[in-house]
Parts: sequence; C-alpha cells; structure tokens
Amino acid sequence: PDTDAPPMPWFGMDIGGTLTKLVYFEPRETNRREIDKETEVLKNIRRYLTRNSAYGKTGRRDVHLQMDNVEIRGRRGTLHFIRFPTSEVGAFLQLARSKGMADLVNTIYATGGGAYKFEEDFIKEVNMRLSKMDELDALIAGVLYVDSMNAQECYYWATPDEQPVHTHPPYSEAALSVYVRKPFDFSSPYPFLLVNVGSGVSVLVVNAPNDYYRVSGTSLGGGTFLGLCCLLTGCSSFEEAIALAASGDNTTVDKLVRDIYGGDYARFGLPGDLVASSFGQMCSAERRARVSRADLARATLVTITNNIGSIARLCASNEHIERVVFCGNFLRVNPLSMKLLSYAMSYWSRGALKALFLEHEGYFGAVGCLLHLDT
Ligand code: ADP
Repeated sequence: PDTDAPPMPWFGMDIGGTLTKLVYFEPRETNRREIDKETEVLKNIRRYLTRNSAYGKTGRRDVHLQMDNVEIRGRRGTLHFIRFPTSEVGAFLQLARSKGMADLVNTIYATGGGAYKFEEDFIKEVNMRLSKMDELDALIAGVLYVDSMNAQECYYWATPDEQPVHTHPPYSEAALSVYVRKPFDFSSPYPFLLVNVGSGVSVLVVNAPNDYYRVSGTSLGGGTFLGLCCLLTGCSSFEEAIALAASGDNTTVDKLVRDIYGGDYARFGLPGDLVASSFGQMCSAERRARVSRADLARATLVTITNNIGSIARLCASNEHIERVVFCGNFLRVNPLSMKLLSYAMSYWSRGALKALFLEHEGYFGAVGCLLHLDT
C-alpha cells in the first residue's frame, strides 16, 4: 500500500453545471491498525453511503454501476457512484455536517466548475478544503482507469450484419430497434476523440494518457436539450423528457428533404427522410396546433444529438481519427441518442468512423479526481 495516501474516507467529486457526481471508495479489508483507528464517524459514513441508494429527496446511488474489487493506490475495494443536482449542494453540505464528516474529512478532491464556485461554502459550512483538479485532466484519467478495471466498459451499437449503414436515416423506432449493444476492446485506444456531452459539450483529441488537447465544443448540449424540452413540453425532469422523446415522432416538427423536394435530393445523395430543417414545420400555425408534446421532445433530442454528431464527425475527419468516444450524462438512460450518433458516425463517413460509448457515462471526472494524481 501507498504510505503517502491520504487518510480514509476517499472521495472524488465533480461539481458540474447540472449534476454533482460523487465517487466513494470503500476499502475491502481494513488492517488491524486501521480498525482500531477507524472512528465511529467513519463507520457511520460507510454504512450510510453503502446501505442506502437514495439520499434525501434528490441524491441517488447508481447501484448498477458499482465496481467491486478495484485497486486504487495499492488498496482493494469497491467504488460507489452517487449523484445529485448541483442546485442541491447546500443540502449536501448540511447532510455532510450532520453526519460528522466535517470533523473527519479536511480535504475533498474536487473538479468541475463548482469546485471553484462553491469553494468558500465548503470552508464556511463544513470546514472542508477543496483540492482542485482540472476537469479535463480528471476526465481522461477517469476514462483510462475505469476502462482498465472493467472489461465491459466500452461498447458500441451494432447493426445485425455489422455493416456500415447505407439506408435512410432511421428515425423510426422500428429502424432503430435493430441496433444491439456489443462490447468493444478499447485496450489500444489511441488516438481517439472524446466527446463529453454534459450541460455543454467538449471535444478532445487524445493521443496518449498525458497528451491531449481540446479541439472544439458547443454550448448546444445536454443542458440545451433539457432546457428546451422543459420550455416546449412543460416536462420537469430529464427522465420525463427522455420518455417523451422515446414515444414521439420528429417528422411532424422538422422539415425533411422530401417535404421540400417531394423525394430524395438525389444529385447530392440526400435521402428524402433526412432532416433538412430542424423545427422547420413549426412556422405553420396549423402544424403547431397538431403537434404533440412527445413529438416536440423527440425533435429537440434529434436536433441536439445530430448537431453534436456533426461536430464530432468534422473534428474526427480534420484530425484523421477513426474512434469517437461519447460520454457525459446526456447519454444516461438515453439509447435513442446513442443509436442516432452510431448511425450518423457510420453513415456520413461511409463506415470509416466508429461511435463508442462508456458504461460509467458521467462519472469519469469524479473518478479521475479520486485517483488524485496531483499528490
Ligand atoms: P455537468 O458536469 O455539466 O453537470 P453531466 O455530464 O453531469 O454534465 O451531464 C448533465 C446533463 O445530463 C444534463 O444537461 C442532462 O441533459 C443530462 N441528465 C442526465 N440525468 C439527469 C438528471 N437526473 N438530472 C438532470 N440532468 C440529467
């Protein structure tokens, strides 16, 4: 074991624009000396975190993502994945105080914009210092670490014959249902494009563990999807927005190539089913009167997803990169966007690009932080 390692408990925290991600390492065996030293407070924290899967009204533990028997700094144990809305940081601090965390933990390894924004609140409320790590450094360290610990981490959405898709954009549920999830061997990953779809989007070129740069980004991200969906449909959660989108039809909202041409625009290979103008039908009062909430949610999802897909594809071709890895919580419980991205990467590159996904979606920054490579 690493003798310089900080005292338990070990946390990594990513305080993002929408969600705060907390990763907790539960050591498997504690040695004699540590058992004697393990305070009641430490035991209580461990019990509280590992025996519950809901904390307060909005905190959740993603039990299905739990990683057993992993090694960090020479210690074996279990990683637990917890999230809550960043708007609830105040409630988290109160909870931390009530559990006695303040007396035990004097430093938390943190990343994300909130590590700066809430730094003083952590000091004032619970006397905890935030040891800050850059969020993109943490993201990549987290991706590489989690992938090395979990053979099932990286996957892709395959068509039945594994061939590139040449057909029309599969916007219908029936066409998208042919995709099946398959594991992808990510053991020699470089170079790859990492597209992190959180509230906003960052696109990184990763050439080696410590050799990467941010090539692009867009403010039209997961936050835009959720914000517009709430405005247009009156929904109030991400889960509700995704469920609405899954049952809707964007072709009543968007203007397609065939709405303009009556069919394909054959000369430049644009199929009739392709969206020519996102939300393009909504300038008609008559069509607005007929459209459903679900259709509006789906059009919002398709618009945001396809725009991210376009930017990712342009970056990949500019940088001569074939593997495009998508992560971030926008992809949480959202197979529709993953399939649309898989389709778009393959179709528009004539099979040259591959869209890859990661099981732990939005938690990599928090994991990277837990590894606290800066010490
Ligand atoms: P950030 O670090 O910017 O908060 P995340 O990777 O956590 O980014 O992704 C945030 C996005 O994930 C939201 O904009 C939304 O699209 C989506 N999302 C997934 N689950 C939730 C949820 N429970 N609450 C809010 N947004 C969610």
